[in-house]
Amino acid sequence: MREQIVQSEKLKVISELAASVSHEVRNPLTVTKGFIQLLRGIDLTEEKKTQFIELSLAELERAQKIITDYLSLAKDHEGEIEKLNIADELNYIVSVMAPYALFQQVEMQVHIQEPHFVNADRQRLRQCFINLSKNCIEAMPAGGLLTIHSQRQGDQLVICMKDTGIGMTQAEISQLGTPFFTTKREKGTGLGMMLIFNVIKELRGQVRVDSEKHRGTTFTITIPGIERESAN
Ligand code: ADP
Ligand code: MG
Repeated sequence: MREQIVQSEKLKVISELAASVSHEVRNPLTVTKGFIQLLRGIDLTEEKKTQFIELSLAELERAQKIITDYLSLAKDHEGEIEKLNIADELNYIVSVMAPYALFQQVEMQVHIQEPHFVNADRQRLRQCFINLSKNCIEAMPAGGLLTIHSQRQGDQLVICMKDTGIGMTQAEISQLGTPFFTTKREKGTGLGMMLIFNVIKELRGQVRVDSEKHRGTTFTITIPGIERESAN
């Protein structure tokens, strides 16, 4: 198994990212503009028109996705910090992702032995797990199994998400979290991993990646837990 601990230094400052976001959004907009100009042509077949419209819509959707992902990254972190039961949060993720998993023929299994707690912003933690599970599901285009484990180790919580998907090379692993690194072409934005690393860093935790090409990937997240009885 290849493994690597992904260092938080890799995280880029949000303001640095803004420049590349506008660049990434400008490309699809330029393409769309081109198609709309073409649509003004008088001697276009219906087939061509439909094609240009479909391509424009796809490009606009791409621009929209980039903006949405960027905004969820850049959002200020003034959300409420609460005591969260990880079991509830992971079960929530499974229910939210169920339709997507079903569509991709991915089975999801959750194993949580006992309730354990963490102090976090619920929305950001959910965003993090949604992005992580989405990546795992997308790594299994021919279906597979997504296993989610969570357990307590001393005062740490260890959450594992494991897929039986396409896996990554060492080079791919080391690019994780780099803005706009994606192998999904127009379907990806390459911002999800960055969000994951940011959220876990905010929680003073760590993300570890074990992956093997054609075998699958395991993300292991370690974050400080809190006692059930403790106040927020
Ligand atoms: P996106 O999902 O939009 O491509 P992410 O930042 O979420 O952007 O992920 C970046 C890249 O990391 C993906 O395109 C993929 O190549 C790789 N990756 C992430 N998670 C996995 C996984 N579970 N298995 C294989 N590759 C993965
Ligand atoms: Mg992603």
